[in-house]
Amino acid sequence: MRIEKAPFFIFPSVGAMIGTYCGVRITPKAEVVDVFGEVIPHLYAAGEMTGGVHGASYMTGTAFSKAMSFGRIAVRSIAQKK
Ligand SMILES: Cc1cc2nc3c(=O)[nH]c(=O)nc-3n(C[C@H](O)[C@H](O)[C@H](O)COP(=O)(O)OP(=O)(O)OC[C@H]3O[C@@H](n4cnc5c(N)ncnc54)[C@H](O)[C@@H]3O)c2cc1C
Repeated sequence: MRIEKAPFFIFPSVGAMIGTYCGVRITPKAEVVDVFGEVIPHLYAAGEMTGGVHGASYMTGTAFSKAMSFGRIAVRSIAQKK
């Protein structure tokens, strides 16, 4: 559809990435695993750098929950090992 009739409006905008949906694999305890599925000792991850949590598609709000839930799990896992 051609836009030909005035008035015309313009506003500045930029593109932004709000999620990656991919990243390092973690266990249910937030431990990072290597490409062979082995836990990497003392390495934990949560949030946007982790992958596979969203499944086939993203539902609004799940990115924050992913970060907060696995952040809490990671801290608890670390505390239990001390
Ligand atoms: C515009 C926008 C809208 C969004 N809307 C939603 C929404 O409605 N619902 C939802 O669930 N999610 C939303 N998200 C996604 C959500 O914000 C992220 O998934 C979430 O914030 C990821 O948390 P994180 O802790 O993994 O990373 P981040 O929130 O990016 O936190 C990483 C932190 O690490 C710090 N950091 C980086 N490098 C270093 C360093 N070298 N040393 C020390 N600190 C460092 C950064 O400054 C930052 O504070 C949105 C994202 C964007 C950009």
